[in-house]
Formats: sequence, C-alpha cells, structure tokens
Amino acid sequence: MKFCFTVDWEDWYHGLRLPIEETKKLERRIKIGHYKLLELLSKHKIKATFFLLGESMEEFPELVQEIKEEGHELACHTYSHPFVIETSPEQFRGEIRRCMELIKPFQNGYEGFRAPYFSINQSCLWALDILKEEGFIYDSSIFPGNTFRSGIIGFDKNIHTLPNGMLEFPISNFRIAKFDFGVGGAYFRTLPYKYFKYRLSNLLKQRPGVFYFHPWEFDHKQPYMKGVQARAVHTHYHNLHKTEQKIKKLFSDFEFAPLKEILFAQHAVAGN
Ligand SMILES: [Zn+2]
Repeated sequence: MKFCFTVDWEDWYHGLRLPIEETKKLERRIKIGHYKLLELLSKHKIKATFFLLGESMEEFPELVQEIKEEGHELACHTYSHPFVIETSPEQFRGEIRRCMELIKPFQNGYEGFRAPYFSINQSCLWALDILKEEGFIYDSSIFPGNTFRSGIIGFDKNIHTLPNGMLEFPISNFRIAKFDFGVGGAYFRTLPYKYFKYRLSNLLKQRPGVFYFHPWEFDHKQPYMKGVQARAVHTHYHNLHKTEQKIKKLFSDFEFAPLKEILFAQHAVAGN
C-alpha cells in the first residue's frame, strides 16, 4: 500500500513556541538536517513532500531550490508557524499568502497545506474554507485522534473529500492502550523500530499512510532551551541521536511516493 514521506521543513526552534524576539537571536541550524535528509532521500530514490515554512524559505531560498531540483513536491506550512487556533481567520489567510508568495518563484501554482502542530481541530475548521478560497487542493493537517496539542477524535482516518470539496489526507496514527500514536516525529523516535514497523505494516494494509518528519530530527546537537513546556521538551528532544539509524531502516523497508500522487491515485480509485 502507498506510503508518503512528508517533511515539515522548518528550523529547530520553530516547534518550541518561543517568543519571536527570542528566536531572532538563535543560531540557524536547518542546513544540518536538510543536507542529511536530501542525501538519504536521494540514496533511497525517494520523492517526498516538503511542507515549507515561510520564515526559513526567506532565509535560505537556495535550500528550497535544492529541494525542487531533487524533484520533491513543494507545499505550504504557513509563514511563521502559529497554532491555527490562536490566529484569526484574517491572520491565517495572511500566513498562507505570505508563505505561498515565497514558494511562487520555485513552483507555478500550489496544491497542499499542513498546519503547524496539526493544529486544525474542531474549533478552527474555518481554516479549511480559507484554504479552499485561496486555491489549495488538499490539506494534510488533521490528526484523527487525541494528541496533547491537537486532534479530532472520531475524524475519518481515510483520504476523503471535505464538505467544501478539498481533499483531506489525515495524519496516520495507531492506538496503543489509550493513546493515539502518530506515524512520525517523537512517536517514531520513541517506539522500538521493529514494533513501529509491525504496526505501520498493518496500518498500510488498511489504507495509504503518511509519515511526518522535520530536518531538525537529524540534529542531535541542537541547543537545549529552557522555559519550554515539559511535554514539548520531551517530544522535541527525545532520542534524536537514534533518528538517522531508524530513518535508514524505514527507507529500506517501505516504498514511498509524494503525497499528491497518492492522493490523486486514491481519489480516482474511490471515484468521489
Ligand atoms: Zn512545523
């Protein structure tokens, strides 16, 4: 069954929810994970989907060019990495427009979106209508289950058409005891690889899947920030030194395709 490797392409501090003034002073380290990732994807002949963050694109347009030249899909991850629920509809529209302006020099037109922190939930479904109005074809932001920061319990886990006509590729997950484990990120770094592979193989027998990743997960020497919420510290820093070894196994064990390829193939089969 089809499987997609997606990258939320941002610098190491973007997921830590630090004040903007503080992040301006921080060291930029995106190149560390960026080059490791492009190297491994190329070695395994994998084409991925990159959800690009505007702030990092503005600072490193040459890296976006490299992603494009490698033949990966370019998509949008907002400009400054806000929690969608904490933005007004107009702020959200501004975030995606600013991000897409930065993608334009590299790609004609655009298709896909992923919200920072998977933060489109029941309280801000209006964001999906703004995406539709702005010309997006698909969204891959909704975690169908419970996470500590977001999620919609009971949301359809299959690729499906939203009421507004856009396509949704929900974040893949599986249940262990009473917890929903996402396919990627800290969940992947925490679980033993063999067990993760077993659960993922079972999941892919049921439906196409999506794996999520960040370049900074290859950067195990990134600074340790004080004053960040304890749970966020755990999910951000846990087992970073094991990432590379595990990703290599994942790339060897599964076959991947860009998200839009899987989405449109599946959509055609479903005929909806
Ligand atoms: Zn992100």
